Amino acid sequence: MPGKRAPEGRPVRLAMVGIAHETNTYSDVPANLAAFEADGILRDAEIVALHETAQTTVAGFLEAGTAPGVEVVPLLYTSTGPCGTITSGAFEAIVGEMVALVRDRGPWDGVLLAQHGAAVSEAFPDADGEVAARVRALVGPDLPIGMALDMHGNVSHKMIEATTVTTIYRTNPHIDARVRARECADLIVRTARGEIAPVQHLETPPMLINIIKQYTGEEPMASVVADSIAVEAWPGILSTSVAEGYPYSDVVEMGMAFLAIADGDRGLAMRGSQWMAGRAWDQREAFIGDTPSPAEAIARAAAAPHGPVVIMDVGDNIGGGGPADSTYLLEIAVREGVRDYLQSAYDPVAVAACVAAGVGATVTLDIGGHTNERHGRPVRFTGMVRAITDGRWEDWRPTHGGQRFFEAGTMAVVEGAGNVTIVLTSRRCGNTSIEQMYSCGVRPERKQVVVAKGVVSPRPAYQPIAAEIILANTAGVTSADLDSFEYSHRRRPLFPFEADATWEWTG
Ligand SMILES: [Zn+2]
Repeated sequence: MPGKRAPEGRPVRLAMVGIAHETNTYSDVPANLAAFEADGILRDAEIVALHETAQTTVAGFLEAGTAPGVEVVPLLYTSTGPCGTITSGAFEAIVGEMVALVRDRGPWDGVLLAQHGAAVSEAFPDADGEVAARVRALVGPDLPIGMALDMHGNVSHKMIEATTVTTIYRTNPHIDARVRARECADLIVRTARGEIAPVQHLETPPMLINIIKQYTGEEPMASVVADSIAVEAWPGILSTSVAEGYPYSDVVEMGMAFLAIADGDRGLAMRGSQWMAGRAWDQREAFIGDTPSPAEAIARAAAAPHGPVVIMDVGDNIGGGGPADSTYLLEIAVREGVRDYLQSAYDPVAVAACVAAGVGATVTLDIGGHTNERHGRPVRFTGMVRAITDGRWEDWRPTHGGQRFFEAGTMAVVEGAGNVTIVLTSRRCGNTSIEQMYSCGVRPERKQVVVAKGVVSPRPAYQPIAAEIILANTAGVTSADLDSFEYSHRRRPLFPFEADATWEWTG
């Protein structure tokens, strides 16, 4: 069993485990054990190798272990997708191993959990809460547990009750994952040393923010984040967080959450989270989405005086569970003869055809639209195979979530008439790294219209070169049109679905 806190003078020894998954319960791609294994179930030194120099949550936890008198022991970390619900087989195998490792490799002074916050398994709609509760049951009520979450977590009271300190990214696109995890770990170290006594309070007003309003660099999220920073400066407050929530997980907790952690003062934590939540609630009308149609977006981008105009393919947000092969924008671009156009598409069959034909050959392909009919139909496209790469690259720039190493499977670049370029991948891959294009010789800067699959996550990659960014209301599993989803489990009332929803804070 994990032991008690380290006596004075000995290093604080923390276990680190995590299963990070953003579950799109509308996706029909299951998160089974094979999916986690394909993306890597990392143990011990494998975790260090992949994350130490990245900007991820895991990197922040590892960094905390470089402080004097602190040891962080990475045991197991895995993530996959985002895609559909985690199968019971995968959940029990992975979480079972996580818990066994914490049990067998102790004693510990604390446990760090690298979670996402929007995980759903077949048996546990609040899978992150279940993970935290199992670890809490193992280590007992006194050992500090820290959990670092993605800003898209649907944060539950179960998660907060089972943990001592929870922190959540404060940026979307997520460029502070490492920083927030480090903060979480540092608070756990101080708790283990008996310097602080964190108490958490969570407020979950019945509201959600549309995916297209979630960029923290603009209103309304800019002031929501500013409010949380203001509360963090209150005397006695240790940490504050805001979760935007993840609307494609059909669970009770779906929606926004406001968390404040005070040093020993429950009333202060409550006042802090209620102040943040109340301010956001008061401007809830500003969180409703409004986006141009795909045809309007393409027309505006093609007619803009300067390129590149980056169109976000909102309905095929790979970071949110999209299949990466939606063709709604491509179909319009090809039909309208749009010039100087660039996009990627997941299509392993088309990649194989390009490989068979070879660089320099002209190919006619039926691109994308193969996953399901919610994401359009295949688009016939003729062009020359310009390049074939192994689909691996490294990006040292800021990227969403801090990822540094990328793998899209074999990639093929096909160039058609009018300087139209399609980058085909053989794994489902979003556009969070501009190096994806550079690595295969494509210069997005020289295009008029660049499609990026995602909503906010491509911003670190494409904002530096974009003359303008347009969010297109494409259909799909991550559509901004939330009325197109059938919810069975969400809270009722929940704003904006029920416009007359009311809220009274707890406590
Ligand atoms: Zn996220």
